[in-house]
Amino acid sequence: MLERLLYIDGAFVPAARGGTLDVQDPACEEVFARAAAATAADVDAAVAAARRAFDHGPWPRLRAAERAALLRQVAAALRAEQEQLARLEQRDNGKPLKEARGDVADAAFCFDYYADMAEQIEAEGEAAVDVGDARFDCRIRREPVGVVGAITPWNFPLLMAAWKVAPALAAGCCVVLKPSELCLLSCTELARYLHEAGLPAGAFNLVTGLGTEAGAPLAEHPGVDKLAFTGSLATGAKVMAAAARESRNVSLELGGKSPLIIFADSDLDKAVQWLQFGVFWNQGQVCSATSRVLVQRPLYAALLARLKAAAEAIRIGPGDAEGVQMGPLVSAAQHAKVLEAIVRARDGGARLVSGGGRPAGLERGHFLQPTVFADVPTDSLIWREEVFGPVVCVNPFDSEAEAIALANDSRYGLAGAVMSADAARCERVARALRAGVVWINCSQPTFTQLPWGGMKASGIGRELGRSGYEAFLELKQITRFDEREDWNWYPADTVP
Ligand code: NAD
Repeated sequence: MLERLLYIDGAFVPAARGGTLDVQDPACEEVFARAAAATAADVDAAVAAARRAFDHGPWPRLRAAERAALLRQVAAALRAEQEQLARLEQRDNGKPLKEARGDVADAAFCFDYYADMAEQIEAEGEAAVDVGDARFDCRIRREPVGVVGAITPWNFPLLMAAWKVAPALAAGCCVVLKPSELCLLSCTELARYLHEAGLPAGAFNLVTGLGTEAGAPLAEHPGVDKLAFTGSLATGAKVMAAAARESRNVSLELGGKSPLIIFADSDLDKAVQWLQFGVFWNQGQVCSATSRVLVQRPLYAALLARLKAAAEAIRIGPGDAEGVQMGPLVSAAQHAKVLEAIVRARDGGARLVSGGGRPAGLERGHFLQPTVFADVPTDSLIWREEVFGPVVCVNPFDSEAEAIALANDSRYGLAGAVMSADAARCERVARALRAGVVWINCSQPTFTQLPWGGMKASGIGRELGRSGYEAFLELKQITRFDEREDWNWYPADTVP
């Protein structure tokens, strides 16, 4: 049985109250690890350590090159231990091993990328601004935002942590990370890499624990300057409300119900390939999953037939088994939630084309068939709300204008995709979609260099790219008046 501790002020420690969390393998439902369960007292200690490290410690005061060197060591450690770490992530989350390996590689790249960015932005220096009055010398400085409370989900446990921890540390912030209680082991390994690389005590702290017991106290903690959250809309709203009380900086990466528009001139094989990848990879537990598919009518029947065959050919099983393309969902609760959404969709009039239940021969573990619905009422929950499982809804459309209107008819705006042989049409649709990420002739490829985040209820702010670094900076203007000049608002000769 693996045992994992909290990481506070440069030391691995048990939870103050001694509690632990069981870590389950979702493919066989066995508990294979135990992690310390933090409560408010541990969060207090972690925030106090981060506060000391930020206010008095060396980390924010180092040159960018020194911080970058340490982050590159972390990237190297992630690469050196890629296989073990991917296997741990796989077992914790259930995802296929190939996907877990990709996540570790992306996390390593993220640390290297933000190491480079720290150096680049420091080299840009302070920006002088001409305010049109020669008596004033004005500059803009960028400074780290301070202590960051990072709260992350279970679908990409290491990667979602890396998207926050790497830029925050690169910018000179000090971090308290609260990963999801469902998948936390890769984050405890990340703490070890940071520790072994020689990060100063308190600059990074890890509090594993339940959302209510560790997440909420972190969100509400007055010692935190910025909250960086990825998770559901419901929890995001609570985090934002907590941030509002002290008017603290907050960024939110939330859910979606992203559309994929397929025009009739698309190549059918490629359309089905991207459709499957867009909604079934990671068992459909992807915030940007293109789970609302709109197909132009002439292609509709052929696409549904091909999709049914393709979905039924997906190899389901434990994620570490050779050739498996879809693992179990993360937990019994998630499995039950997705099944409930499927039943509700059927009762609500959506036509079940494929899947809809547990795959034959997989009686243990949280396995679910890839599920396809067609002719879905557009006012139903399955069409409008995130399922976060391998469930796709497919509906027909006739005109480009109708497709755009249907695609944008959502409270979410994280991602969207369009497929057509007509490049000008793709461009028009891409511009018309109200989403932070739009893919043309593909769905899901995600690059560290590009901003990531949603419009509307899908979030506030952007991760990744330069914007993902600037999210951890404050702008400070320094305005200097030439001391040889007189201001004379209250002229000296009028003072008796
Ligand atoms: P969740 O909201 O249940 O949990 C997210 C995190 O918040 C966890 O660490 C949890 O412990 C914590 N938490 C729970 N209650 C809390 C509270 N009251 N105060 C503070 N923290 C609390 O989400 P999840 O089920 O872990 O993740 C799935 C969701 O994440 C989906 O909606 C998905 O779309 C979203 N997501 C978004 C992105 C993105 O980039 N936009 C990426 C991945 C996942």
